[in-house]
Amino acid sequence: MTRLDGKISDLYDEVVARNPGEAEFHQAVHEVFDSLGLVLAQHPHYADAGIIKRLCEPERQIIFRVPWVDDDGRVQINRGFRVEFNSALGPYKGGLRFHPTVYLGVMKFLGFEQIFKNALTGLPIGGGKGGADFDPKGRSDGEVMRFCQSFMTELYRHIGEYTDVPAGDTGVGGREIGYLFGQYKRITNRYESGVLTGKGLAWGGSQVRTEATGYGVVYFVQEMLAASGAQFDGRRVVVSGSGNVALHAIEKVQQLGGHVVACSDSNGYVIDDKGIDLAALKQVKEVERGRISDYVEHRGESARSVTSGSIWDVPADIAIPCATQNELDADGAQALIDNGCQIVAEGANMPCTPDAIRAFARAGVRFAPGKAANAGGVATSALEMQQNASRDSWSFEHTEDRLSDIMSAIHHTCLATADEYGVPGDYVLGANIASFTHVADAMLSLGVI
Ligand code: GLU
Repeated sequence: MTRLDGKISDLYDEVVARNPGEAEFHQAVHEVFDSLGLVLAQHPHYADAGIIKRLCEPERQIIFRVPWVDDDGRVQINRGFRVEFNSALGPYKGGLRFHPTVYLGVMKFLGFEQIFKNALTGLPIGGGKGGADFDPKGRSDGEVMRFCQSFMTELYRHIGEYTDVPAGDTGVGGREIGYLFGQYKRITNRYESGVLTGKGLAWGGSQVRTEATGYGVVYFVQEMLAASGAQFDGRRVVVSGSGNVALHAIEKVQQLGGHVVACSDSNGYVIDDKGIDLAALKQVKEVERGRISDYVEHRGESARSVTSGSIWDVPADIAIPCATQNELDADGAQALIDNGCQIVAEGANMPCTPDAIRAFARAGVRFAPGKAANAGGVATSALEMQQNASRDSWSFEHTEDRLSDIMSAIHHTCLATADEYGVPGDYVLGANIASFTHVADAMLSLGVI
């Protein structure tokens, strides 16, 4: 990691000392702090008001036991979390992640990122994140339901339309949100649609919410291309992952005329010279819930599966990492650079390591951080909250127009802020500075709370 400036460096050391062993959280804080030197040089009052220290301390952290009974009648115990990080701009908002790697440090990294991402949307939502170290892989539908019910039996007392509004993240999709909402409704005896987002269309959900993160990142790339007078037309795109974000990113790239040549899962990746066939991919990942290598059986000659090396070895003009944190490191970045990649946009949260991001900057590769590029998901969650609050339901077209306008506004904010601070074209600095000043100004107005 780079060295931080004097005062910021001391603040960073304090955060590390206060939160030992939380490497992902430290990384996310460092990334934001790296941009703050420029802000403090012009506006030293942010440091004096203790804003930076307060921003790094979650307003509330809830850790709870989640007991449930598996299909063999055995009692299982998982650990549940909800980190309510910052509510200066609105109720805490952010997803729930069910994955065996979940621990407090991952929750805090994701919650911290969410504060700034949500601020960039321009919508009135604070930042939070939650989840559990539960592994849904290989669990039956009944087990997943019982787990969700037990999780909500504790979580319900902490959330609400005006308090904290969870949604999905890795391992939590429409099925899980349904079980969670059902249990919330049963316990509270309230049909409080605005308490969760990512709901089904028949019971308070929003059009485009499922597609939103993937579509949003591609709209963002479209803006990056347009900024230099270019379009997707025929450009080779590599999308890592094959979950909800990746699937919809692939769909939108193809709609806009790009050529997606590779995608992956945790077991390896596939290359398809004819372009990834979305129907076959959905069949493998959503219907059969199989491995990415199974895709080849659906496609024959044009596709091959690779289980060694990295998807970033595949030549591409544009890379969209949509799998998980730190999946694209310095080696991956170098391979992309050597093959002439020009744009990288993060569909997942923090998929690129700091070394990778520095390599892109040195090589002149335009890089969009997740807090800007993948904000379409949470932005559409905020649109779902709007529809719930007004007991309304918008059309797909209208909702997608709103999403696309929000993504182009975020893109504009990043570049305009980068210009203002004398770092033209730097999306990282633009995103960090614009979101930090937005949240910090709100916190200043609200007093020391
Ligand atoms: N999990 C998504 C994210 O990382 C969406 C959160 C939400 O919709 O609240 O932004």
